[in-house]
Amino acid sequence: MTKPLIVVTGAGGFIGGHLVAALRRSGDVRIRAVDIRSEHDWYQRFPDVESLQLDLRLREACFETCQGATDVYQLAADMGGMGFIESHKAECMLSVMINTHMLLAAREHGVKRFFYSSSACAYNVELQRAAQVVPLKEADAYPALPEDGYGWEKLFSERMCRHFTEDFGLYTRVARFHNVYGPFGTWDGGREKAPAAICRKVIEAAESGEHVIDIWGTGEQTRSFMYVDDCIHGIRTIMDSPAVTEPINLGSSELVTINQLVTIAERFAGFQLERRYDLGAPKGVNGRNSDNTLIREKLGWEPSLPLEQGLRHTYDWIYAQFRARRSGQRVAV
Ligand code: NAD
Repeated sequence: MTKPLIVVTGAGGFIGGHLVAALRRSGDVRIRAVDIRSEHDWYQRFPDVESLQLDLRLREACFETCQGATDVYQLAADMGGMGFIESHKAECMLSVMINTHMLLAAREHGVKRFFYSSSACAYNVELQRAAQVVPLKEADAYPALPEDGYGWEKLFSERMCRHFTEDFGLYTRVARFHNVYGPFGTWDGGREKAPAAICRKVIEAAESGEHVIDIWGTGEQTRSFMYVDDCIHGIRTIMDSPAVTEPINLGSSELVTINQLVTIAERFAGFQLERRYDLGAPKGVNGRNSDNTLIREKLGWEPSLPLEQGLRHTYDWIYAQFRARRSGQRVAV
């Protein structure tokens, strides 16, 4: 009997890299990891994993990727934090080519199970105008008014998964991730998200001695942040669950303001910074939180690692990357 072949796309990136690591640890499978980036720039690489550099916007690349696969975890997307998605809407929407071709290839090659990583950006923005939000439940994605560009693509691709199940019998699972953070992810260069950006800025301030931090918006916008280990556990449990047949939230429900996030990072550094607020910078919706009623009901579980604990690991990892880069080593940012 040959071992099942599990495909992870976007494997050179943050969540994909952690997923490959977790699948590897659990043993009896072959893994094919795919990303558009050169392998040198992947956050995590493993010699015993088949690693391919392919542009998954191309149909033939998706067919090569799905050849012989049992399960597909589709995480590849052209994305980043608010600074990126608010100024690269067309690029974000072009990820629809990845999702379209991956679904066609999965169907053609008889893939047994297909996981799609959607986002809380698929939710109606009208429900996220106030900082003191009502947590978003799955039904709140409709009537549709998602985040422009990135969110529309996610919602559309969710629908494609739904219809590939209805029309072609493809087993699909869709999770809407709410802000994932942790080590081995983007921390500089313009695509980084708030937790990584804030850790880096605090580290830069500590190292330069210039104790000032620039914060996008008023800092009073609220979010919840899920540690990557919770995300990986959630992905795998959702994929295995017979009960999760509709898109489901995968996020923490611990709500914080961006100012509170800065305060936590300052505690790690051991000092307070002067805060400068850039009100013209991209800041996304004013408030967003995950309603975890459905995931608790379906899986008897929800992401729970406290932010302070997860952010400590993230801060330490970014600090090590920062020092390594400064000493001339090549690091993925
Ligand atoms: P990431 O940017 O670290 O990883 C995505 C990977 O996809 C990158 O390595 C990138 O090179 C690759 N990719 C982009 N275009 C490609 C192409 N044409 N062909 C092949 N590979 C390509 O992002 P991530 O944080 O690991 O996110 C993974 C998935 O989860 C994405 O679909 C993202 O939209 C979704 N998501 C992430 C978050 C989060 O907070 N990180 C939140 C919501 C949804």
